[in-house]
Amino acid sequence: MTPERLPSLIRHWIGGELVEADDGRTFDVFDPVSNTAYAVAARGSATDVDRAVAAARGAAHEWAGLSGRARATILNRVADAVEARHEDLAAFETYDTGLPITQARGQARRAAENFRYFADVAVALGEEAFRQGAEQFSYVVRQPVGVAGLITPWNTPFMLESWKLAPALASGCTLVLKPAEWTPLSASLWPEIFAEAGVPAGAVNIVHGIGAEAGQALVDHPDVPLISFTGSTDTGRHIVRSSAQHLKTTSMELGGKSPVVVFADADIEAALDSVVFGVFSLNGERCTAGSRVLVERPLYEEFTRRLAQRAADVRVGPPSEAATEVGALVHTEHYRRVLNYIETGRKEARLMAGGERPAHLPDGNYLQPTVFADVERDARIFQEEIFGPVVAVAPFDDEAEAIELANATQFGLAAYIWTSSIQRGHRVAHAVESGMVWINSHNVRDLRTPFGGVKASGIGREGGAHSIDFYTESKIVHVALSDVHTPRFGAAR
Ligand code: NAD
Repeated sequence: MTPERLPSLIRHWIGGELVEADDGRTFDVFDPVSNTAYAVAARGSATDVDRAVAAARGAAHEWAGLSGRARATILNRVADAVEARHEDLAAFETYDTGLPITQARGQARRAAENFRYFADVAVALGEEAFRQGAEQFSYVVRQPVGVAGLITPWNTPFMLESWKLAPALASGCTLVLKPAEWTPLSASLWPEIFAEAGVPAGAVNIVHGIGAEAGQALVDHPDVPLISFTGSTDTGRHIVRSSAQHLKTTSMELGGKSPVVVFADADIEAALDSVVFGVFSLNGERCTAGSRVLVERPLYEEFTRRLAQRAADVRVGPPSEAATEVGALVHTEHYRRVLNYIETGRKEARLMAGGERPAHLPDGNYLQPTVFADVERDARIFQEEIFGPVVAVAPFDDEAEAIELANATQFGLAAYIWTSSIQRGHRVAHAVESGMVWINSHNVRDLRTPFGGVKASGIGREGGAHSIDFYTESKIVHVALSDVHTPRFGAAR
C-alpha cells in the first residue's frame, strides 16, 4: 500500500531550509515490495556536508546557551510532534524498509520515548563535585563536544536516528545527520517535526547520500569532533581509521551474532516464544537478534523441531498488512546476500525450515523464516552476521561448553540465557562476552541502561547518562579553599 504524502524528491535539510544537492545530483530510492524506484534523494557531497557543518556551527552558541529546562521543553515538543505523526511515520517506515506495520508503529512510539527520556535527562542530570577536606574543591563542567556527526543504518532507521538525535540535542550539541541511503524516507519527516517543535534553524541538519561520499565527508570534516556511528563492523573499522586523522571521539554500535543459551531446566514455552520473536521480528534485521541458539542436549531435538514448526507457521506477507509477522527484506542487494547465506547453510548444516521464497509471494524481497540445525562452530552461518530471518541452532552438553560456544565468534553485542537456576543464570551472564545479557527475558530495555557491545560489536556505550558522557566533554575546575602550600622551587637562594 502506498502511503499518502509520499515525496518524489527527498531533500537535504540545512540551516532550516530544504535544499537539493549543491551539484544537483540524486540517487534512486526503492521500496522492497515492488523493487522499483519510487523517489530520488539528494546525493550529498563534501560541499553539502561543509554547508551543513557550517550551519551547525552557526547554531551552536544559541543551542548550547539554552538552559537544560529550555532544551527539555523543546525535546518534549519534538516527542509530541513525532506522536502526532505516528501513523504517517509508521506507514513511511513500512513502505521504505519492508518492516511489518505493527512493528513499525512500535518503533515510532519508541522514537518519541527517546526524546521524552532525554528531555528528562537534560533537566535531571547534575554535575559532579569533589571536596578535599577544607583545602580544595573541584567541580565538573559538562560542555557539548561540538558539532556531532551522526551516521545511521537502514534497520529501524527513524528510531535509530532518534536514539542519537535526542541525546546529542539534550547535551547541547548541534549536529549533522547522515541517514542510510537505502531508507531515507522517514527521515524526510524530521524537518517538519523539528521546525514545529521550535528547534532553532541549523541546530539539526540532514544530509542524505551514499556512505562513501556524504558519510565519509562527515567523518573527514575537521569541524566535526565526534562521530556516533551505528552500522556494520567493516564500516565501523573504516570510520575509526578515518577518524584517527583528527583524533575524533567515536561511538561504534556494530554488528552482532548474539547467542541464546537454553538450558534443559528452562521454561521451554517462554524460551521458544522468545527465540522465535528474537530472531524473526523486524525481519531478522535486528542488531541484537538471537541468531545462534544453543540448546542443552536433552532438550535439543524437541526444541529444534518445535522451533522449525513455529518458523514454518510465521506469517510472511505484505509489510502494510496488520497480520504480517515478517515483511520484505530491505533491498534486493541485501536479499541476495541473505539468500547466499542460505545456500552456504545448506552445505554446512541441516535445514529444518524455510530457506525459500514463500510460494504465495512471487515478487518482492520475501523469505520464509529459516532454521538450520546441527550448525558447527566454524560454519560461516554460525560465525557471520546474516541480518535476516535465519537462525543457527547447535547443541551443548554442559555449562562450560555453552559458555565456550556462546563466546566462539568475533561479536559480543547481546546474549540471552534461559534457565530456572538463578545461580547459573548469573554465572553464565557474567562469563558471556557481550555488552548486554538478558536472563529469562527478551530485549526489554530501560532507556537508562547502557547499550553497546564488546569485541567486534562496538566501542563505547550509549543510553542514559552514558550518552550524555559521550556528547559532552567533562571539564574539571579545581579551586583552593585555603592557603596554597606550593614547594618553593628557586626560592632557596
Ligand atoms: P553500513 O555499515 O553499510 O551503513 C551504515 C551507515 O554508514 C549508512 O548510513 C552508510 O551510508 C554509512 N557509511 C557507509 N560507508 C561509510 C563511510 N565510508 N563513511 C561514513 N559513513 C559510511 O550498515 P547497514 O548495512 O546500513 O546496517 C546494518 C548493520 O548495522 C548490521 O551490521 C547491524 O548489526 C548494524 N547495527 C548495529 C546496531 C547496534 O546498535 N549495535 C544497531 C542497528 C544496526
